[in-house]
Amino acid sequence: MCYSLSMPAQILDGSKIRDDIFSELKHEIAKLSAHGIRPGLAAVLVGDNPASQLYVKSKIAACEQLGMESWLHAPPANVSTEYLLQLIRDLNADNNVDGILVQLPLPGQVDSKRVLEAVDPAKDVDGFHPVSLGRLVSNRPGLVACTPAGCMEMLRRYKIPIEGANAVVLGRSDIVGKPMALLLMHANATVTICHSKTKDLADVVRRADIAVAAMGKGGYVQADWIKPGAAVIDVGTNKVTEAAEAEKLLKNFPARLEKFRTKGNVLIGDVHPDAVFTAGAISPVPGGVGPMTITMLMSNTVKAARWRRGKSSVVAG
Ligand code: NAP
Repeated sequence: MCYSLSMPAQILDGSKIRDDIFSELKHEIAKLSAHGIRPGLAAVLVGDNPASQLYVKSKIAACEQLGMESWLHAPPANVSTEYLLQLIRDLNADNNVDGILVQLPLPGQVDSKRVLEAVDPAKDVDGFHPVSLGRLVSNRPGLVACTPAGCMEMLRRYKIPIEGANAVVLGRSDIVGKPMALLLMHANATVTICHSKTKDLADVVRRADIAVAAMGKGGYVQADWIKPGAAVIDVGTNKVTEAAEAEKLLKNFPARLEKFRTKGNVLIGDVHPDAVFTAGAISPVPGGVGPMTITMLMSNTVKAARWRRGKSSVVAG
């Protein structure tokens, strides 16, 4: 590799932005509380998937940190679609609930689409409802999926120029790639969407001023695919447990490699860690997009409370 190891990129620090946004949200929540509105998030966690339990726990902890109300509904793994539909109807009808979060994946016997579509779009803080997606497509105000919304917030807060930029999004999932591409397009970037059938991926990425990787393939995007100085948002979260793979990915990061040897695993993004030496700015994994996702969930819940319940001019906006 011919890139210099002496000029690392600016790190797009998701944890720092989370702290900044949390202070802004606390202010807004205090304003709403003064009008008798305490934003509240209801989480639906089906079964005992440890990763899902961890995600939901951190979302509830974030609510507590911000002084928001939260409720956890945890039906067993053998729950029926009908039961979940009734639960969602109850949450839709509860005026104290501003946001409904259905933790995915749901078990195989559940019709996930029906359950997600039953959520009142006004409480769709995950932004997965077709009405929310429709609003996003037509660039109308609405609740936007948290991960792509977090990536945009990161670009904006670090003042990465978006208008006129060539943006390449790797991945076209409904929850990350597609909404990300739409958000970048609405911000006047020229957007290319790549997927598993894209030809000459490296060449496409080499033209990107902004590259967003959301493929779920650890270290796949090579450092020399990144245009020197480009901004890189790495959405991927891949747990690497193989020593040979970790050594290959982290050969220029002895401290991280040492940590891997102690712990037996390391979290790697979809972008090779060496991209820090070619990019102009890059979001780290961990500590980049991850904290932004939860932050935008909190932000969406406060927004949903304001839009649905904040009638006075003091809380409108
Ligand atoms: P997904 O639903 O599995 O979608 C992956 C996308 O990547 C698909 O569109 C797929 O193309 C594309 N892809 C796969 N291999 C490719 C290749 N070799 N070249 C180009 N494109 C390729 O994944 P997702 O839910 O969007 O998540 C993506 C990653 O982000 C995962 O690592 C996930 O863990 C992570 N994630 C992180 C957060 C966070 O908060 N940090 C949140 C959400 C997701 P096809 O459509 O052709 O199959």
